[in-house]
Amino acid sequence: MIRDIDRILIARGAISDRVRSLGEAITKHLEDVDADQEIALVAVMTGSLIFVADLMRHLPMKIRIQLMTASSYIGKSTQTNSDPVIGKLPNVKDMHVLLVDDILDSGKTLTRIRGKLQELNPKSIQSCVLLRKKLPSAMEVPCEYVGFEIEDEFVVGYGLDYDGYYRNFPDIGVICP
Ligand code: 5GP
Ligand code: MG
Repeated sequence: MIRDIDRILIARGAISDRVRSLGEAITKHLEDVDADQEIALVAVMTGSLIFVADLMRHLPMKIRIQLMTASSYIGKSTQTNSDPVIGKLPNVKDMHVLLVDDILDSGKTLTRIRGKLQELNPKSIQSCVLLRKKLPSAMEVPCEYVGFEIEDEFVVGYGLDYDGYYRNFPDIGVICP
């Protein structure tokens, strides 16, 4: 185990069970969508890298995978920046969009991205995050699918980083103070 991980919060087995059930719930919803309509899975990099790779394999329908970037931290910080930097938006006009991100914290990233995608006239938008912090700011953001609710502490692993490290850690954990 990586020495800097203080404790495991969500183990890989629990993550994989939950990702499967999220996939089933999303599939149930998307199956009702007209088969001629395009479905776009828009994944926010880099934190959702592993989550989206696992999730998409539980979505058996025809979907277009589109990646975009957002970053909220300046260097070695565990506090999100007031204004996330959003990269190039994918074209989602007339598509049903599933927006996927790793974690809802202040909610600024998902709110900004969902707002910007909405301006591109998609048919519909739903959001899915693996984690949501139990904070008023995070709970207020519309999000149709949430993997786990967690306390307000800084987590790493399963795609989530601290200063670029620990994304490869297979469980979700808390780093040593
Ligand atoms: P928000 O805009 O909701 O404050 O933050 C969203 C982004 O900040 C997430 O997509 C994620 O990249 C990063 N973030 C927020 N909380 C955490 C955390 O506890 N751990 C890590 N590694 N990243 C976080
Ligand atoms: Mg992110």
